[in-house]
Amino acid sequence: MDKFMQAAIDEARQGLAEGGIPIGSVLVHNGQIIGRGHNRRVQQGSAIRHGEMDALENAGRQSAQTYRESVLYTTLSPCAMCSGAILLYGIPKVIIGENQTFLGEEALLRERGVQLDVLHNNECLHLMQAFIATQPTLWNEDIGE
Ligand SMILES: [Zn+2]
Repeated sequence: MDKFMQAAIDEARQGLAEGGIPIGSVLVHNGQIIGRGHNRRVQQGSAIRHGEMDALENAGRQSAQTYRESVLYTTLSPCAMCSGAILLYGIPKVIIGENQTFLGEEALLRERGVQLDVLHNNECLHLMQAFIATQPTLWNEDIGE
């Protein structure tokens, strides 16, 4: 298992333990995690704290150059909001844990030249499947449905 995807899964599990939605993410630059986070919509009553947004926020302000040399890891296919942030900052590569429970804006990202690698990771898949089965309302709220 890729150690960075493992870190993103650890974040997702932490979110679940806090009563939140189990999606985690890390931003990696030059082989180092510079930001890590997990979905905190429930924990913080937030409209925007998806896992990827939380990792980006926790990385703090970075130079355009740094974003262009970074890789974003996320346990779940990125939604329209998170894909927008990826495009805005010019992050060139995204490693995705799974896209079976939710398919985000992968076509848009690819069209805009972002390299995507979908791992079809079973741990990511089972975390989301179990969560969606037990908390369908909370999940639908997260994706605006
Ligand atoms: Zn998102």
